[in-house]
Amino acid sequence: MSAAPAERDETVREFGDRRLGAAVSRIFLDALCIGIYGASPDQLSMRAAFPLVAALEREHGSLLKGMLARRRTAGPRGVLTSLHGGLGELSARLAETAGVEWRWSTTVRNVDRASEGLVVSDDSGPTSFDRVIVCTPAYAAVDLLRDLDRELSQLLAEIEYTPIAVVGLGYRAVQSAAVPATPRHDGFGVLTTSASRTPILGVVWESSVFPGRAPPGQRCVRVMIGGQRNPELVEQADAGLVATARAGLRQVLAEDPDPETVFVQRWPRGIPCYGRGHLARVAAIDARLAQWPRLHLNGNAYRGVAMNDCVRNSRELAARLAAATTGEGT
Ligand SMILES: Cc1cc2nc3c(=O)[nH]c(=O)nc-3n(C[C@H](O)[C@H](O)[C@H](O)COP(=O)(O)OP(=O)(O)OC[C@H]3O[C@@H](n4cnc5c(N)ncnc54)[C@H](O)[C@@H]3O)c2cc1C
Repeated sequence: MSAAPAERDETVREFGDRRLGAAVSRIFLDALCIGIYGASPDQLSMRAAFPLVAALEREHGSLLKGMLARRRTAGPRGVLTSLHGGLGELSARLAETAGVEWRWSTTVRNVDRASEGLVVSDDSGPTSFDRVIVCTPAYAAVDLLRDLDRELSQLLAEIEYTPIAVVGLGYRAVQSAAVPATPRHDGFGVLTTSASRTPILGVVWESSVFPGRAPPGQRCVRVMIGGQRNPELVEQADAGLVATARAGLRQVLAEDPDPETVFVQRWPRGIPCYGRGHLARVAAIDARLAQWPRLHLNGNAYRGVAMNDCVRNSRELAARLAAATTGEGT
């Protein structure tokens, strides 16, 4: 086992081979990277994609020692969680509780400098703001910020995204191991590895993990397709995606009951890929943002792709802005 390279931005594969051995790396890390990023461990920067694990090695010299030390502090439980009505509930609840003016379903076209603060132009025209937080995906922020800061916009354009398609399959009464009937507390579904040569990335037993996602007595599963492993599969027509999902179920779970309903959603730019150089790019973005103290960027393109990362980063930004606003007012 060799020491961590001080300067080099190691990939997840390199880290895994060095710390865990090639076999664990090939199976466990391959599935983990697909499950979180839809990406290959060869394409992800360890420090950017799994900063806590990289820190365990840095701070404790050993993953095991680090994990034991961290166990003494509270951490999240390893379960999938969601909101009862889906993630849309979050913005609906915010709309009910936050006493601000909302403009829904409008497309922001541009953010530019104003005599004081910044001016945001959307479908209804320009409006001036003293502060602006751009929370779009990075590729959308590229267009919004081009007039304001071309260099910032170019840095944002370097953040690549991984395509993912999701196929939902709904069943009435069906007895099948592929579609568990009751909530299972021992698993959420399946993640595949590159070596398995299956056409799917994974399966989430949706209605067993999240009660209420299917009508009473019925069930549904969600099948993920594409990612960096098979990006071309995302471009298939709906029928092709459903056929791919069902072929994957047959291969992985040995069963493929006839679904009652199907649902297909493509995300051509689904999940940001934190490749080598990501942290340096984010630092360069921050350096550009320092020129624009009233402009902020937030969202899953920078410091964590998962929902919990987004919530944590949003809280931190809100606290920083609240402190800065208090300072401005005094
Ligand atoms: C298929 C898939 C499955 C995922 N599963 C999970 C999971 O199980 N758990 C998890 O933690 N994370 C998951 N993620 C990651 C998830 O995307 C993030 O956790 C989270 O949704 C990112 O939030 P965000 O606010 O950064 O981006 P988004 O949720 O993408 O929000 C960006 C918003 O910007 C809006 N927008 C874009 N351009 C403009 C414009 N010009 N004007 C106005 N609005 C604009 C968009 O309409 C969108 O509403 C998944 C992602 C994908 C693609």
